[in-house]
This record gives sequence, C-alpha cells and structure tokens, in this order.
Amino acid sequence: MKILLSNDDGYQAPGIVALYEALRDVAEVEVVAPEHNNSAKSNALTLHSPLYVHRAANGFRYVNGTPADCVHIALTGLLGYRPDLVVSGINNGANMGDDTIYSGTVGAAMEGYLFGIPAMAFSQTEKGWKHLDAAAARARELVQQMLAHRLVDSKPWLLNVNIPCLPLDELKPAKVCRLGRRHAAEAVITQTSPRGETMYWIGAAGPALDESEGTDFHATAQGHVSVTPLKVDLSDHDMLGYWAQSMTRLSARERT
Ligand code: MN
Repeated sequence: MKILLSNDDGYQAPGIVALYEALRDVAEVEVVAPEHNNSAKSNALTLHSPLYVHRAANGFRYVNGTPADCVHIALTGLLGYRPDLVVSGINNGANMGDDTIYSGTVGAAMEGYLFGIPAMAFSQTEKGWKHLDAAAARARELVQQMLAHRLVDSKPWLLNVNIPCLPLDELKPAKVCRLGRRHAAEAVITQTSPRGETMYWIGAAGPALDESEGTDFHATAQGHVSVTPLKVDLSDHDMLGYWAQSMTRLSARERT
C-alpha cells in the first residue's frame, strides 16, 4: 500500500511530522507538502509561476506552491506511480462546516479525490498541537481500517476528519456526521501601514451557526472524532426545477 501525504501548514509543521511517523509502518508513505503555510488556499493551483521541488533532510519533499499543487504534481509525474490513498494533515485547527470550502487541508485531499483516488483530510479541532500524539494515533487507526477492509480499492471517496484535542483515553469513537454551518466571518481588521496606507486583515471565522445534533461541531464538542464524507458537485439539485421554470417564464415574458 502506498500513501501520498500532504498538508497545508507546510512540510515542517508538527502535524504532518506526527502523521508521517504514525503511518510509516502502515504503508509506504511519501510526503509532498508546501514549503510555507498555505492555510485557506482551498483548491488553488499555481499557473503563472514555476514550481520547484526540494527534498528535506528527513526525506520530505516540499514545493513552493499550494497544497493542491503538491498533490497535483505528485500525481501527474513526480511520484511515477499511483498511490492507493491520499492523506492530508494533521491540520493545526478545525476544518468543520463551511471551513471545508476554504481549507487547504481539504483541498489537498480533494485533489487526490478528483484524480480518482480515495482521500482523507485530518484536522485537530483546536490550534496549538495539544494532544497531537493522540490525534496521530486515531488518524493511524482510521487509515489502517480503510486499508484492512480494502475500502481503498473501491471507487474514490473523500473523508473529512476532525479530531478533538483530548488525550487518547478521552477521545470517543468516530461518528459519521454532516457538516455544520458557521456564522459569516467576523469583521475585517484594519491597520495603518508605516506609509500611511490602510491595510486590511481578513477576520476570524465566525462561531457555529448550526451545531445541532448530527453535525461535525456537535460530535467533536462531545469528544467524538467526526468523519464527514464530502462530494464535489456544487449543483443545487433541489433548485434545478425552480430555475428551469423561472428561466422559461422569464424568456416567455421577453418574447411578448
Ligand atoms: Mn492549516
């Protein structure tokens, strides 16, 4: 079994080092990760500047690009083989609810999924790497289950996993849940630069809006590891009929 491991916090982040150490005897693991922090880069690809790949002393390869760049070039030429599983993380902080739209951690896993490879994104629910050893152990357990039950041989899937920052004996079993929702982000922060210009800093993500039972927010608040299967189709299937009718009505009105 071969695993491609990436992240969005950069190849030196404690989360990817811990996950590599946890997975290295489960499968053959190759790391291709961003050189620098690429949080909130989602699925971005770098098209207008060249990408370089270097190998660190520990064997990790790092790229001056985004998480999706790393997985993309790994799968389209760098590795020279097709991994059985793409793994991303462990991220420094939660990727729940609407975070998944922006997340570079999810973006790296999603790039694997788009190439038809099963993929898992792992995040700790709080920043700071507290109980990272426990999170790595649970991530390892989940990956092992996927490999042992041959789930990696099936059609591709994408799992978003969030692990509460708790010691191993306090972490509750994995719970499959839907994404919750967040409030709109907090206000932009402005400062004045030394040259007198206004600088804008994106504000923090909002608190949970939907954290009801069945969501990732709810499960992790109870101490469970949340597992959410994701899909990429953004079509609003429920609204297809409504918009078909509306567009027909509008074009009929234009003709009269
Ligand atoms: Mn991150």
